[in-house]
Amino acid sequence: MASMRAVQVTTAGGDFELVQREISEPGTGEVLIKVEACGVCHGDAIVKDGTFPGIRYPRIPGHEVIGAIAKLGRGIDFFKPGARVGVGWRGGHCGSSSACRRGDFRACENPLTTAISTDGGYAEYMIARAEVLLPIPDELESVAGAPLLCAGRTTFSALKSSVATAGDLVAIQGLGGLGHLALQYAVKMGFKTVVLSRGKSKEDLAMRLGAHKYIDATSNDPVKELKALGGAKVILCTAPNSKAISEVIGGLGRGGQAVIVGAAKDMLQIPAHLLIGSGRSIIGSGAGEIADAVGFSLLTGIIPMVEVFPLEQAALAYEKMMTAKVHFRSVLKMGT
Ligand SMILES: [Zn+2]
Ligand SMILES: [Zn+2]
Repeated sequence: MASMRAVQVTTAGGDFELVQREISEPGTGEVLIKVEACGVCHGDAIVKDGTFPGIRYPRIPGHEVIGAIAKLGRGIDFFKPGARVGVGWRGGHCGSSSACRRGDFRACENPLTTAISTDGGYAEYMIARAEVLLPIPDELESVAGAPLLCAGRTTFSALKSSVATAGDLVAIQGLGGLGHLALQYAVKMGFKTVVLSRGKSKEDLAMRLGAHKYIDATSNDPVKELKALGGAKVILCTAPNSKAISEVIGGLGRGGQAVIVGAAKDMLQIPAHLLIGSGRSIIGSGAGEIADAVGFSLLTGIIPMVEVFPLEQAALAYEKMMTAKVHFRSVLKMGT
């Protein structure tokens, strides 16, 4: 049996462990992928901390994966060996639940989730279902492209499905792994784009990436500033900071939406009067197709800024991501 190097979590709350694992054979409808790069996402904390019910350990995290197909399972005729493919959070659908029978596979009631119900991409090889594979075009390099499969998909679809239309005022709260992509998407979608961040250190970057205005929340009141601009149609909350989100809701204009994509553990605390009368709303966004985000990124030249780590430094890559010390997304590169 051939073996591979992988980084796994053996128990909820346990450390990342570099181990030697058997390379699995792809079953019917599956492929074996030789992983080239895997992004490190805040969502990997679900595996690390065991906060999703029913995760079976040991489990290999990683749901921003790009690699080349090494082997086809039975029943696959669309893909060929050697083809580069991407895998995101969605790991498969059952094909027979009521949603699947309606053709709404994204709403499958019995889905597979990459790195939750199956092993993910913190490894030299992984098994994936063919129905969720995204063909990766040659011009998209694996390391820089990997974060598009979750961070990119999340922020792109949140903006695309929001109430904002061209010319509207959109505020991006936080300028990290999600925020630096959200800012570029917002600008390219034609929104008047404001970045809300703490301190001055990210102002230059924000302006370089096309922001029309930068608001330092430590020395200015973001609500006052947004109101002076007419009120935001959308505030995209990318930083997992419930207090900061709660404090900025008043900066929304009439009918404005706060769209939350960064999951914080603590509670949002929002006075009801800020929502009543003004028609403001707070929604979460987690859906969207990886193909749409990758397509728009290639169309508009949006490439994630990443720090690259070898597989054996997965713990460091994760730690830097969780403490927002990475510029701006950690990516594991295999074979380094
Ligand atoms: Zn289903
Ligand atoms: Zn993710």
